Amino acid sequence: MTEKLNPFKIAQQQLDEAAAILELEPGIHALLREPMRELHVTIPVKMDDGSVKVFKGFRVQYNDARGATKGGIRFHPEETIDTVRALAAWMTWKTAVVDIPLGGGKGGVICNPKEMSKGELERLSRGYIRAIAKFIGPETDVPAPDVYTDPQIMAWMMDEYSVITGYNVPGVITGKPLPLGGSAGRGDATARGGVYTIREAAKMLGLNLKGAPCAIQGYGNAGYFGHILAQEILGLKVVAVSDSKGGIYKADGLDPKAVSDHKDKTGSVVNFPGAKNITNEELLELDVMVLIPAALENQITEKNAANIKAKIVAEFANGPTTPEADKILFAKGVYVIPDFLCNAGGVTVSYFEQVQNAYDYYWPVEEVHAKLDQKMTAAFHAVHEMAQKHKVNNRVGAYLVAVHRVAEAMRLRGWA
Ligand code: GLU
Repeated sequence: MTEKLNPFKIAQQQLDEAAAILELEPGIHALLREPMRELHVTIPVKMDDGSVKVFKGFRVQYNDARGATKGGIRFHPEETIDTVRALAAWMTWKTAVVDIPLGGGKGGVICNPKEMSKGELERLSRGYIRAIAKFIGPETDVPAPDVYTDPQIMAWMMDEYSVITGYNVPGVITGKPLPLGGSAGRGDATARGGVYTIREAAKMLGLNLKGAPCAIQGYGNAGYFGHILAQEILGLKVVAVSDSKGGIYKADGLDPKAVSDHKDKTGSVVNFPGAKNITNEELLELDVMVLIPAALENQITEKNAANIKAKIVAEFANGPTTPEADKILFAKGVYVIPDFLCNAGGVTVSYFEQVQNAYDYYWPVEEVHAKLDQKMTAAFHAVHEMAQKHKVNNRVGAYLVAVHRVAEAMRLRGWA
């Protein structure tokens, strides 16, 4: 990874730009540039062949001025401490921009879950929790799912933590399966929240989304549910989707159920009957109204930003656009809904899950959707107005809203 594409350097650079506009006190700025605390662990796991493999894991608690740190755990072969630091910083801005009483954190384990059996994955999940158990808890730091982690993994982790504690602690982790204290509506919450922001952006831009083409990069939780909800809620026509192996294009639209069945059977969306195979790079440059990057960091860069044809780029992924690309897109008039606003639906419903766990009473899905819509719509307009007011792009606008809120909490606590 080059220094230029180091996500933590990018996160610091983005913060610096907002700090200058906000005229942040040097003490607060310096504190916000670094994680408050981080833990590096090594996890021995008994593999199915009888050998022991040692994995490396991290948990970063970035800032807790507004509440307990919160953020997902990624299982990825290319995980680095700097990626986890950046993601933890972005969680700090994410919880602030949707105005929920939480801070930011993130976890990661360097591993390739695609090459592990279910048993190995369970032992790794439990081992990771044993290694970080003293560092987390419902009042201090609450993990959740992220890239290549899912509700089953959250269930094992919650169980392991509860065994260590000696009683059930559902509130230690969110994104759990429903029978273990998960929240209705958490499964598709990231995509749903993103779709609400696209709806609001289209209103502001005077765009009609009905039947308009849309492309989605990435077919994990956010990409897959994004496909369903972009069609169901917005009436968009999803003409292209992709995963890590490549993409597919079909001018008259793709059916999410058929694509996901094909992926379940073959391991990828590629070679979907009736569609044309395309590369991930080609997908990003398609002539669509809405482009949804829902995969990993650094996808839209100074190399391809000038070729982006979408009117709205809705960042379901974390960190898909580099700072150089941001400038190019802004100059071209592309409306970017920045990651920590656009994908905040996941953590917002995670927060609802924590609230329901704490009072042990559960809401119907309609209530979750309505509360999520309220949070996302308010956050969207706060950012949109801030960006207009300062004549900056939406990412800087989102930073101005979020950093201001975190800094205010730090001042009130007497940290600077
Ligand atoms: N991993 C998700 C994110 O990046 C959700 C985090 C959470 O629910 O705590 O926002």
